[in-house]
Amino acid sequence: MNTCQGDVNGNIEPDETWDDVDQVDPAEESLLQKLLRRSVVNCKQQVEVLQSDPSSPLSSVKTFEELRLKPELLKGVYSMGFNRPSKIQETALPLLLAHPPENLIAQSQSGTGKTAAFSLAMLSNIDPINKWTQCLCIAPTYELALQIGQVIEQMGQFCPDVKVAYAIRGNRVERGVKLQEQIVIGTPGTLLDWCTKYKVVDLKKISMFVLDEADVMIDTQGFRDQSIRIQRALSKDCQMLLFSATFKEALWDFAERVIPTPNIIRLKREEQTLDNIKQFHMLLELCSDKEEKLEALYNLYGTLTIAQAIIFCRTRATASWLSAVLRQEGHQVALLSGELTVEQRAAVIERFRNGKEKVLVTTNVCSRGIDVEQVSIVVNFDLPVNMEGNADHDTYLHRIGRSGRFGKRGFAVNMVESNRDMRILCQIEEHFHQKIPKLDTNSLLEKE
Ligand code: ADP
Repeated sequence: MNTCQGDVNGNIEPDETWDDVDQVDPAEESLLQKLLRRSVVNCKQQVEVLQSDPSSPLSSVKTFEELRLKPELLKGVYSMGFNRPSKIQETALPLLLAHPPENLIAQSQSGTGKTAAFSLAMLSNIDPINKWTQCLCIAPTYELALQIGQVIEQMGQFCPDVKVAYAIRGNRVERGVKLQEQIVIGTPGTLLDWCTKYKVVDLKKISMFVLDEADVMIDTQGFRDQSIRIQRALSKDCQMLLFSATFKEALWDFAERVIPTPNIIRLKREEQTLDNIKQFHMLLELCSDKEEKLEALYNLYGTLTIAQAIIFCRTRATASWLSAVLRQEGHQVALLSGELTVEQRAAVIERFRNGKEKVLVTTNVCSRGIDVEQVSIVVNFDLPVNMEGNADHDTYLHRIGRSGRFGKRGFAVNMVESNRDMRILCQIEEHFHQKIPKLDTNSLLEKE
């Protein structure tokens, strides 16, 4: 059978809405990754450096001692269990601690040690004797600001005079009364208000300005302009730093506007390949109902639970229905969807990581970045589609990349129940230049 034919009902069904479909929120995703991260991500890729002054020698360090940190800071770093600088820190730290100051734009994937690097730089930059704000740090959300603050407080635990304030919604300040905290971390709007409306921070006295998660920041209306307004009011000598996990075109425009004469450090992410993932489709009777899909899933179930599996559904309703049905049948299943708070999601993933459940049913909230080593099978109970009703290739890649982590062999099974699904599957095959053959359930076990 030529699976690409028969595209009769190719369009999205009129009653199909997006209200119940979880959209990925980059700030939430970033927070989730921080809550789940246990150790630094080791990137094998080389660091790319573009110096603002190519004639000055580029230094990099292999130890924290080489940085000549204040002893109480070095103690703080070691107390966090850091033995040596991470890949990006090797090059970034000498620039961050340079005299005269150097501006920096740094990009590397989440978990590679950016926050730790600029936290150390801020702690090193301030003079604790001076009771005024010397470092400003902008983050896209309240929760992310608190995460940064925790790192600073932990790293600075042996520097008792260092204080941190949070410019976040709900925190009040008295107009005109200058803050004594040397470091202020906040979201752009509140921070701008504190500096310009309430005048509790003198922007001319800031010696280090950090913009974290700049890629998330520019996705939020208003944040870009508020950040630029703060940056414009800083003194020329202020060291300006920007960090981002990804680099898209729009970010460049922004980064170059807020960071004058920057050094640029990039740590390329390892390309995700699908080479170690065997992909299949299960052809259900066209126009079948959910029950038939469920039947097909049961046929797979023994295989799913050999290691661990993630089942992706399009809507929250389908995910909660499926997990409920599977639980009724006596299976131990975890459910992860956008109704949960980020902290609750982290707890669900943590349980799954620890093997408390073998199967995780989810929506798109879990399609990126969650590393669970034991996942060997991903099931697309619903194929990933975009608003136009076409294949969402990025989401497909992220979803099936959940299996076969760390070089292990993985399987992906795509359920196909309509001509539209078949068209989407063909789009995926074409996009990734890979055939996705029909699965003979009985032989799945033998295949591995
Ligand atoms: P990013 O900001 O790039 O997402 P983080 O600075 O939050 O990365 O670091 C990710 C994790 O790695 C954190 O748990 C952090 O404590 C840890 N970490 C950072 N730098 C080091 C290091 N040099 N050695 C060991 N662990 C580190």
